[in-house]
Amino acid sequence: MALKDVLLEELRDMYSAENQLVKALPKLAKGAKNPKLKQLFKAHLDETKFQVERLKRVFNELGEKPTGQHCNGMEGVIEEGKDALEKDEEGASFDSGLIGAALRTEHYEIAGYEACISMATTLGMAKIAKLLNSNLKEELAAAKKITAAGAAIMKQSAQEPEAPKKPKSGKEKYSAMKSKEDEAKASADLKK
Ligand code: FE
Ligand code: ZN
Ligand code: FE
Repeated sequence: MALKDVLLEELRDMYSAENQLVKALPKLAKGAKNPKLKQLFKAHLDETKFQVERLKRVFNELGEKPTGQHCNGMEGVIEEGKDALEKDEEGASFDSGLIGAALRTEHYEIAGYEACISMATTLGMAKIAKLLNSNLKEELAAAKKITAAGAAIMKQSAQEPEAPKKPKSGKEKYSAMKSKEDEAKASADLKK
């Protein structure tokens, strides 16, 4: 498989990831308690919609269709965002969970765009690399703004009382079981 084919697959993956975020970001915006954080999620939703359009331009340049590949990674990262939205934490602590989830989505996108840009540059596709770089810059800026807003939110969260221990939900029990499996599977290799 030539590099161009790899790039095409990665770009379709990004296109799917951005489309998934168009659906997920309004939920984060709705869930966020802090008005600044809420506004950041809304603003990034607008950017994300434009990023989808920019990716369409990339596919136009390539003379290819944008669909064909579902991004499993983003599906997983968004699933963790859903977990954060289901937590019944206090205001700032709840938001702190959303920040962790949102930063994961941004950095996942950053990794994807960086890989695509390297490939496009290697292939001498300057115009495509430039379009992708515009999306990358927005992701980097979004992550920076979320981190900056997070500082005050986390300070507040640190003042909130610890939640009383509650019985684990089915989903949480399953997650705890899987984490033990992860540890057990690694243990032999960790001893090497
Ligand atoms: Fe994006
Ligand atoms: Zn993916
Ligand atoms: Fe983003």
